Amino acid sequence: MISVEEHLATILAAVRPAEPVRLPLSDCVGLVLCEEIRSLVDLPGFDNSAMDGYAVRSADVEGVDPAVPGSAVTLPVVGEVAAGGVATMPVALGQAVRIMTGAMMPEGADAIIRVEDTDGGTETVEIRAGAAIGTSVRPAGEDVRAGAVVLEAGSVIDARRVALLAATGHGDVLVLPRPRVAVVSTGAELVAPGQPLAPGQIHDSNSHMLEAALTECGAVTTHRLTIGDEGSEVIRVVEELAGQVDAIITSGGVSMGAYDVVKEALRDSGTVDFVQVRMQPGKPQGFGTVGERRVPLFALPGNPVSSYVSFEVFARPALRTMMGLRPAGRPSQKARLTHQLDSPVGRTQVARAVAVRDDAGWHADPVWGQASHFVADLSRANAFLIVPADVTHLAAGDEVEMWLLDGDRARLTAWPADAEAEGAGGAVGAAGSSRGLTHVRADGSAHMVDISAKDVTAREASAAGRVLLSPQAVTALRSGGVPKGDALAVARIAGIQAVKRTPELIPLAHPIAVHGVSVDVDVADDAVQIRATVRTADRTGIEMEALTAVTVAALALIDMVKAVDRHARITDVRVVAKSGGRSGDWSES
Ligand code: AMP
Ligand code: MG
Repeated sequence: MISVEEHLATILAAVRPAEPVRLPLSDCVGLVLCEEIRSLVDLPGFDNSAMDGYAVRSADVEGVDPAVPGSAVTLPVVGEVAAGGVATMPVALGQAVRIMTGAMMPEGADAIIRVEDTDGGTETVEIRAGAAIGTSVRPAGEDVRAGAVVLEAGSVIDARRVALLAATGHGDVLVLPRPRVAVVSTGAELVAPGQPLAPGQIHDSNSHMLEAALTECGAVTTHRLTIGDEGSEVIRVVEELAGQVDAIITSGGVSMGAYDVVKEALRDSGTVDFVQVRMQPGKPQGFGTVGERRVPLFALPGNPVSSYVSFEVFARPALRTMMGLRPAGRPSQKARLTHQLDSPVGRTQVARAVAVRDDAGWHADPVWGQASHFVADLSRANAFLIVPADVTHLAAGDEVEMWLLDGDRARLTAWPADAEAEGAGGAVGAAGSSRGLTHVRADGSAHMVDISAKDVTAREASAAGRVLLSPQAVTALRSGGVPKGDALAVARIAGIQAVKRTPELIPLAHPIAVHGVSVDVDVADDAVQIRATVRTADRTGIEMEALTAVTVAALALIDMVKAVDRHARITDVRVVAKSGGRSGDWSES
């Protein structure tokens, strides 16, 4: 057996950056620039207006001041110029030209009066504010001078740099290209997703996962094949692909079973080695080069989690190296475990976890299913935890090395970010951990977060929601024609009553003294809008009470109108505003 580091070193020694190619901007996002870029133009290219308004000579508006009555001046408008137009008429003393944002400054003019400071006239214009020379004028070359270096070789191209490249006149640039990669799933049991399964068959998830992972890392999947368990087919496919692509990734057929076809077929090629890596998951690995062009081939294990972990640990760094991207691997950082984690002796464990960050740093909650066939738990995870080979046990609270898999994608963000009662647990729950309840201790007992040390603060929360109704139900509500009586009044009362019951209904809500509740209902053409505002002075927030009020008011309304509308529907229940407490004030708009 070899270590993860040894196997990775073998792989990285065998790959090198590709030859640069010239590509149009639209193909360059995420690629490394291989040339120094100089601007072909001045930016702005000419003096132009920063505002819709009037180009004038500053001297003509001297002393004009909105605060000084009678100081306005009226000038004849001698022309008009829009963006893309050329100002033909010079602005002489005592004249103005109507001008739009981005339009070229007319000769003679030295300042812009915003349209808001005028009467907007087209024949003559009354000007109500003055402007010093240069006001609202964007001078040529202010941003970038023609010939100036705007990007160094080695820059990674992103949307902001595409803006700069385009603005400075570059339609294509020299970059390291995306590796073209072929993905081959092996296994007689595999059926394409979307197709029915016969007994014993499974859907081929690896080839789709690998294609997606390749896209995420900037490479392109040129072939995605699913083949059976025939050695001859493996050899034929690999030989054919080796002439067409920059890398090949296979999955399955590399372990110890009777049909470990990839290993058997390629072992004799002499250029692909099959090794046991001290790692879990992902022990069996194959790597080598194939064909005349010595294309790297990664033979990954078949279990979906092993396959994904192997891609991340071995193939992704190789592909990033081919693309010139640094660092090749995921940056590693420290996280604290929310639960204990056991790890096999003598193997580097790559555990999957849900990671969230709060003021104290990153917390990682290992997903429940750590076996290599748990795809659902894999998909919940947003991080790998790297447990060294010599560590067999980590306790809750211990520090662990972590690789974040999703950059800044939304699932990392905790919302609602109410750090008060929920702590990181709200976010862990939101991210979907199967056991990530901060309110359940390691021994399984439930507890309520202790808030006694917090300050008592005046707090208010508002929630809103809607009950969608038929036109008949709306008419009945408006005319007081609901057979059961005043449905709106009942809904309001139900909402208020419900607030007082919230801690009984919501397991982890603290009982708090409710100081005020208002429930408002408003009949619109297709719905009743419900809004509840709840107040307290306590140590924890009152959002759940506001949500309960809206929800129960909506339910009561549905009960009241069900004789006239069987299809009434509750929608859009949410917190719309809150104030007070340590997490600060917030409102939806
Ligand atoms: P193997 O290494 O080929 O024996 O595969 C190990 C396990 O992974 C078996 O349970 C296979 O059915 C499963 N497996 C192999 N390839 C795939 C695939 N492309 N998609 C989903 N599961 C797979
Ligand atoms: Mg197989």
